Amino acid sequence: MNVLVLNTGSSSLKFQVIDTDPETMASDTDRRIAKGTIERIGSQGLLRFQNSAGRVTRNAQPVRDHRAAIDIAVRWLVSPEADIPQINSLADIHAVGHRVVHGGEKFTASTLITPEVIDGIEECIDLAPLHNPDNLRGIAAITEIFGAGIPQSAVFDTAFHHSMPEGSFLYAIPYQFYRRHRVRRYGFHGTSHRYVAYRYRKLLDIPKEQVNIITLHLGNGCSAAAIKGGRSIDTSMGLTPLEGLVMGTRSGDVDPAVIEYLMEKEGFSINQMDTLLNKQSGLLGISGLTNDMRDLLAEEQENNDRRASLAVQMFTQRIRKYIGAYLAEMNGADAIVFAGGIGENSAIIRQRVCQQMEWLGLHLDEQRNNTLQAGTEGRISADSSRLHAYVIPTDEELLIARDTVRLVEGIAVPSW
Ligand code: ADP
Repeated sequence: MNVLVLNTGSSSLKFQVIDTDPETMASDTDRRIAKGTIERIGSQGLLRFQNSAGRVTRNAQPVRDHRAAIDIAVRWLVSPEADIPQINSLADIHAVGHRVVHGGEKFTASTLITPEVIDGIEECIDLAPLHNPDNLRGIAAITEIFGAGIPQSAVFDTAFHHSMPEGSFLYAIPYQFYRRHRVRRYGFHGTSHRYVAYRYRKLLDIPKEQVNIITLHLGNGCSAAAIKGGRSIDTSMGLTPLEGLVMGTRSGDVDPAVIEYLMEKEGFSINQMDTLLNKQSGLLGISGLTNDMRDLLAEEQENNDRRASLAVQMFTQRIRKYIGAYLAEMNGADAIVFAGGIGENSAIIRQRVCQQMEWLGLHLDEQRNNTLQAGTEGRISADSSRLHAYVIPTDEELLIARDTVRLVEGIAVPSW
């Protein structure tokens, strides 16, 4: 079954077409047929498309909105110039899987999209005003282009963390606000943490119940999850993706009193504070240079830039703090697993996160860490370690495609 997977961000669209079915899932032989990104939606869009043979096409053209972006992507997929033998018309796309950011407490697993599900996603808009509306636009655009008959699924970023106990997901504010407004930690990047945990289980050939790991998704957004007995029992992101680790442009944890204080001192509005914490903080805010880890590491190495170095140091320190907290909470773990653009590609960040944890039994194997090829899975700790470290490249799209096929074929969707 050819599944179009859509990931709509505030000004971007990422898509992939993956051919998968129960047999290919079992043998890990799912096929990538095409993928692409459209960035800067709302202005002069930047398009990058790649067909099944790996040929890349780049283009720039005005892209009005998400509807237009999806139209452009789908038109390219079925066009002769894309040259994708498996796709000649809309009928060759059999189902569509959407990444949906916030499922609230309503959605604890992936689901086929029905009018009721759309209503449910709309109800969660209050909780994710920046994300859920774009996801809904994506669903509406697909219905318009393909007709109401095409099966569509929603795979929620929050779902994997629904297993957190109350003590982890509640904030210590008066309980009535949880009851009245569902103010709580939901956690995000769930599809990534779930995929990484699944691959870890496959690599070690152990049952789900024996998975006791801390997963670190380190990309532009960053989060950690404590997975005990195969279930997410705590995670660093909260009501929104702002809480927790230091990220590219998000602050992660701050004392909430900082907000009122700065509003008073600088005369900032709530909106300005929101922009400050979400878009101007993190690596960018500390370094004053960039949110891009590659550039920060280069600045640190080539120019000895103090603030670039400080940003990187704070980034790794916060991760270590969470690892320590989760190890205490979990009564120890078997492994720390790195994923996301930074976690998968940067040996130096992995080394700085894992340093001085020998007392915990974590001994990094420098050579394994330095020579692991980007995009490959592997252990980077020494054989003698009690607490191991792994790199497992994440693949949210694959999980979304697989969940979609299972839902369409009426096969039970595993919790992960
Ligand atoms: P997103 O969360 O948007 O999907 P990614 O997972 O692609 O982002 O991660 C982007 C981050 O990964 C950027 O900060 C980028 O600098 C970083 N990154 C990518 N490659 C490397 C590398 N070789 N070394 C250090 N950081 C890297």
